[in-house]
Amino acid sequence: MNDVLNVYVLSQNDYKENDALLKTFSLEKGIVTFIAKGLLKNESKNAASCLPFSESTFTYDEKEGSKLQILHSASLKTSHRALRENINKQTIMSVISELTEQFLNDNYDPTLAIDIYQGYTQCMNALEQTSKGKHVLAYFLVSGLRWLGVEPQVDECTLCSETQINSISMEEGGFICSDCQKEIQSQVFTTEFLYAFRIVNKVTPDNFNRYLNYQEPDKTLINYLYDFMKFHTNISLKSWVFLEKWSIIN
Ligand SMILES: [Zn+2]
Repeated sequence: MNDVLNVYVLSQNDYKENDALLKTFSLEKGIVTFIAKGLLKNESKNAASCLPFSESTFTYDEKEGSKLQILHSASLKTSHRALRENINKQTIMSVISELTEQFLNDNYDPTLAIDIYQGYTQCMNALEQTSKGKHVLAYFLVSGLRWLGVEPQVDECTLCSETQINSISMEEGGFICSDCQKEIQSQVFTTEFLYAFRIVNKVTPDNFNRYLNYQEPDKTLINYLYDFMKFHTNISLKSWVFLEKWSIIN
């Protein structure tokens, strides 16, 4: 019996000889890794449908309880080629794909998968159609903080509920007022940064398109969101270094 799965290909890596390892994301199964035998041979008919960020239908015989499935055949639904032809888009898509993998790895929750699928699709479409890579990346990071239940408090001081704030504390999980700041010696930020941090943390699937027209988030803000995530979770990305290497967030 053949099993069929509609997937996003998150990444493709060399495996043995001409075989490749494909990490995929689907609504039904979350993250599934496939071995694609002979994929790296020139004449492989599955090549186009197994490229990173393509949307494809995979056919296979499911091995119950196995982390690795063997791909029989793949047919391409949407190529999303534009995401591979521009280094900025490709790098940001790689970060978003690696985040997706880590959000769902060993933790398949159907409700969470639906939210992430929606976020992933939104980011993919926006990256394909615009050059708003930093907006897209910042949005996916704050969505991740929400999905993982560690979103920062950006409405009032985390410690005393005062609304005049001048600081953020990673340890306390959000905004800090000037009185509490003196006590805990948390890092002081400019008003502009605090404002931008609040705005980005208010972006949801419903107002994301409006956020794309808002001022571009800068490197400090994007790095801070990632640091916040690393502080509160065990997320750690191999692909992040390429954002700096290609000066995408400089
Ligand atoms: Zn306070």
